[in-house]
Amino acid sequence: MSISSCKYYITLFFCIGSFSVFSQVKKSGAAAPKQANQKNTHNASVQRAASTAPIKCLNKKLSLAIHIVTDSLNHPNISQAQINTALATLNTDFAPICLSFFICKQDTIYNYKYYQFNQIQETPEVHNLYEVQNMINVYIVGSIVPAPEAGFAGKTGNFMVLTHGCVTDGKCWSHEMGHFFSLAHTFETANGVELVNESNCIAAGDSICDTPADINPAPVNSNCQWTGTNHDATGYYAPIIGNIMSYHPAVCKTPFTVGQLNKMLNWYLSYRNYLY
Ligand SMILES: [Zn+2]
Repeated sequence: MSISSCKYYITLFFCIGSFSVFSQVKKSGAAAPKQANQKNTHNASVQRAASTAPIKCLNKKLSLAIHIVTDSLNHPNISQAQINTALATLNTDFAPICLSFFICKQDTIYNYKYYQFNQIQETPEVHNLYEVQNMINVYIVGSIVPAPEAGFAGKTGNFMVLTHGCVTDGKCWSHEMGHFFSLAHTFETANGVELVNESNCIAAGDSICDTPADINPAPVNSNCQWTGTNHDATGYYAPIIGNIMSYHPAVCKTPFTVGQLNKMLNWYLSYRNYLY
């Protein structure tokens, strides 16, 4: 126990040192998120409103503790290059608020029990066994049960669990990091169904008003076009196609909106500013 604590201390010390260096590299300015899907013309007014909202800059570089779980033959089945590529995409998606992530610590868990990861039973187990305090712990596993989860994270707890498919799909890691910083799905209904005319957008849906009402499953074709005529009493659905917090295909990916970025930024400042 004391040995591992010491090891963590040394690692943390190194990472804090890295942070102070990186924090001196100031960005010249945050890039504005790209306009959402141009094929979808119905939400043009929503997008204009979003693009004029201010984006704050955190200028933070947060430490990741990566834990790679191997299969029964002790094979990780994911390469460092795949992880690094995915991390670069993650950093691109969070660049508008000057929030980035780097691998501070990485280990391999040679325990294939966790390769097919049982979300309910094994999350507390790996927390007790492997979690590095005050870092974002990323467990990379073969699959998650119950299927078809590709990954999961919550707005509390310092962890997320990603399958190989999640790491390599170009959208999923940022989606889970969105959950980590409190974002809901664009089609969320737990707090009420968001109306197409956005009149209840503060309270219902994802509680973000520059993400138009969405549904799941969504009628999005391989050309990233909305093919449905789904509607509610206030109009026809016209969501942002491919928003990171949607379940639309990863190939249709479009960036976080300003509303989503600012919600994550405020969640970080209010509840997660203890992270190294
Ligand atoms: Zn999700």
